[in-house]
Amino acid sequence: MQTSLLDLQAEAFSSGADRGARYLRTLKERQVNPDVHRLGALAPDLPDNGLDVEAILDLMETVGGEGTVASAAGRYFGYVIGGALPAASAARALLSAWDQTADDLTGPSVIRMEEAAISWIRDLLALPAETDGAFTTGATMANMTLLVTARDALLARLGHQRGDGLFGAPKLRIVASAEIHATVLKSVRMAGLGTKDIEWVPTDEEGRMRADSLPELDERTLVLAQAGNVCTGAFDPFDELGERCRQAGAWLHVDGAFGLWARTSPSLNVALSGLEKADSWVVDSHKTLNTPYDSGLAMCRHPEEMQASMAIGAAYLPETAANPAMRAPEFSRSARGAETWAALLSLGRTGVAEMVDRFHGHAVRIARDLRGLGFEVPHQVHFNQVFATLPDDEEACARIAEHVQSSGEAWFGQASWKGRKGFRISVSNWSTRQDDVDRLVAAVERAKDEVAVPA
Ligand SMILES: *Cc1c(COP(=O)(O)O)cnc(C)c1O
Repeated sequence: MQTSLLDLQAEAFSSGADRGARYLRTLKERQVNPDVHRLGALAPDLPDNGLDVEAILDLMETVGGEGTVASAAGRYFGYVIGGALPAASAARALLSAWDQTADDLTGPSVIRMEEAAISWIRDLLALPAETDGAFTTGATMANMTLLVTARDALLARLGHQRGDGLFGAPKLRIVASAEIHATVLKSVRMAGLGTKDIEWVPTDEEGRMRADSLPELDERTLVLAQAGNVCTGAFDPFDELGERCRQAGAWLHVDGAFGLWARTSPSLNVALSGLEKADSWVVDSHKTLNTPYDSGLAMCRHPEEMQASMAIGAAYLPETAANPAMRAPEFSRSARGAETWAALLSLGRTGVAEMVDRFHGHAVRIARDLRGLGFEVPHQVHFNQVFATLPDDEEACARIAEHVQSSGEAWFGQASWKGRKGFRISVSNWSTRQDDVDRLVAAVERAKDEVAVPA
């Protein structure tokens, strides 16, 4: 029998998957930092005749593999990257064979999975029953989607015609935490709103917005808060913010890219009380939940406002078909929400909370050990983020981070917070275990001994 073209695809697919599995098996012992010496080989002249799949995968596996950062492994503590849970990355592989577009007409099963995932997350985060949302490429696009929605909703409430866009629109006010994430500000700009007149709210010693320093709010105001400060992990005071916004008719938006998941933990959720009073929330799947990149979620308690801002008026689309493009910027997109569905099914309700608590537990332990080594961690460990500095030699922190990076033992980046220089550690990978934390701490200790100038 003749091999069909799709059999060829299946063979290629298996080869890619086998190589992926081989990569994962080496990760535990591999150096974390990439070897970039041979990456030039990835940019040959485009050949006249195509190569066969095995040759392409060979090049990718050998040269490309070396040049990866082992962020999928448990000793990567940079930024807030996360790994990929087995169920989520396996689902990604299966999805890539399915190649579905996430809409009801062209991908009915993945749409059901996305809808289920959104309702589970609404439930896990105890958000209002009327909340609905849409998957995006990440928190940045989710923020942009919701800021456009908030902008349009506030303007419409002020009597401005939606069809006029920003032409002749009344001026809105933006009130934001002084430590709001840079991508939220980027989203503000993408939404056509200026950052120049933002009314900044100072933060307290933990990096939380000070509710007692909020300006007078009104129905023209968009308040930007966060659940999970990237340096300290701290959460803004949602109870007070929510009350104040509700009384004034202001819109409260919460960027909870990695931190919103803390709400699933019975021991951490106290700090997120009042979160349900907000109008819109952003959370990533690809960070704390550990799905593959790229996947975030925009959620809104006024889904009809999301739809009013994001709907596409194409006449050939039946009105009844569930189409996520009605609530998000993209039209054709991957079924990324199905990976979130798989991740949540594999963890279950308790598994999500356990993972969140485990991240917190490792972070607490890291902060304690760093203090034991003479570092200062100038904040409480609210969740999974730890900022550390050397009180007598802040400048040494960058050298310590570089030393650890080039050792290949672990990876984290330098950072500054409240004018102090230091480094920042994020525990956000499902596969990080106690021995990974031990190796991190040992690498920091060696680095400090070698590069810090004794006080
Ligand atoms: C990572 C992050 C973002 C941006 O998220 P992307 O998924 O990278 O677009 C926004 N806010 C916070 C607090 C983050 O940590």
